[in-house]
Amino acid sequence: MQRQSLEPALESLERSNLRRHRHTVERFTERTGHTGVLVEGRRLVDFSSNDYLGLACHPALAAAMAGCASRRGAGSGASHLISGHGVEHAALEEELAAFTNRERALVFSTGYMANLGVMSALADRGEAVLLDRLSHASLIDGGLLSGARLRRYPHCDAAAARRMLAESPQPAAVLATDGVFSMDGDIAPLADLTQAARTHHAWLVVDDAHGIGVMGPTGRGVLESSGLTADDVPVLMGTLGKAFGSFGAFVAGSAALIEYLVQKARSYIYTTALPQPVAAAAREALRTAQRDSWRRERALELTRRFRTAAAEAGVALGESATPIQPVPIGSAGAALLAQETLREAGFWVVAIRAPTVPVGQERLRVTLTAAHREDQVDALVEALSRVCVESLERRPE
Ligand code: PMP
Repeated sequence: MQRQSLEPALESLERSNLRRHRHTVERFTERTGHTGVLVEGRRLVDFSSNDYLGLACHPALAAAMAGCASRRGAGSGASHLISGHGVEHAALEEELAAFTNRERALVFSTGYMANLGVMSALADRGEAVLLDRLSHASLIDGGLLSGARLRRYPHCDAAAARRMLAESPQPAAVLATDGVFSMDGDIAPLADLTQAARTHHAWLVVDDAHGIGVMGPTGRGVLESSGLTADDVPVLMGTLGKAFGSFGAFVAGSAALIEYLVQKARSYIYTTALPQPVAAAAREALRTAQRDSWRRERALELTRRFRTAAAEAGVALGESATPIQPVPIGSAGAALLAQETLREAGFWVVAIRAPTVPVGQERLRVTLTAAHREDQVDALVEALSRVCVESLERRPE
């Protein structure tokens, strides 16, 4: 883009209701343990975070972080392969490997970087990468970075994935999908994808950023809820900044896979190691999440409550059994208006617009967490029922 094109590009985004605006948000915890946000001076109930287990503001995580910072300092000082790999990283990796029942785990600074690292390390020029059409941007960017031929199959269509693998002119190195889709809340058809990847000798990569800690009888994510093992899904990616309330991400798999990533994943090698206090907070989150199984149960129970109340109030929702509940609105302008109306009513629910979702599928993305109260969920549904009626009335004939 040339310099003179910048302002017109921003104006064009504004005109089409696609310009993003940041809001400065302060999180607070009430004496009851319930959390809220202060957005530009107003206390709101936050129904837009990924803090599914309500751990982001948990005092034990903050204490672990502060304690570690006072012992080991704020910064890790170097990348992992130089002198930045500390005892907290090593311990976190061992605990994540045990949690996911895999030989080893590798901690990345962010989920975005984990996906870039995995995709670009496992796929190469002359090979193919196959992704679900609604895969997270970081899987797509990782696929592009690898130089492999990138193809996308229709959302959750394992038969199409199998066909595309069979017909691919290049050998398929990777078949990758989100476990829980971040904007829709639905779950990938993992058992069928496992078969397809196995038949065609491709790595199956599952990004379970939104499933780990939440789904499955013991919170081990969608692999657990789908009854799949490390042998079925050899590459599992999870994040630490969502259900685990801290920051960072990991890839878990065989010892050989992790060793290969240490050698080849450039987003692991060429960056400063995550601060150790962050790793300490993530370790505490892992312990707290496993001990407090009620958190997971509560997030899912509130999800069911939300869906039942929405059905009774005539609020249409996408098909989702996870704490991510999309409310279809249908245009960027209407989604922004709905966001504002909800904010007036005391709720922070963010409009999701293109290119995060396809044009015409703009929505509100509601997320339920263990830190919500029943009455807050009920009040949100009531406000949503008004918003949905208004946006229907405004829709052109
Ligand atoms: N994968 C998915 C499915 C996500 O939703 C996200 C975060 N939005 C990421 C990866 C990236 O994780 P992180 O925020 O840790 O970079």
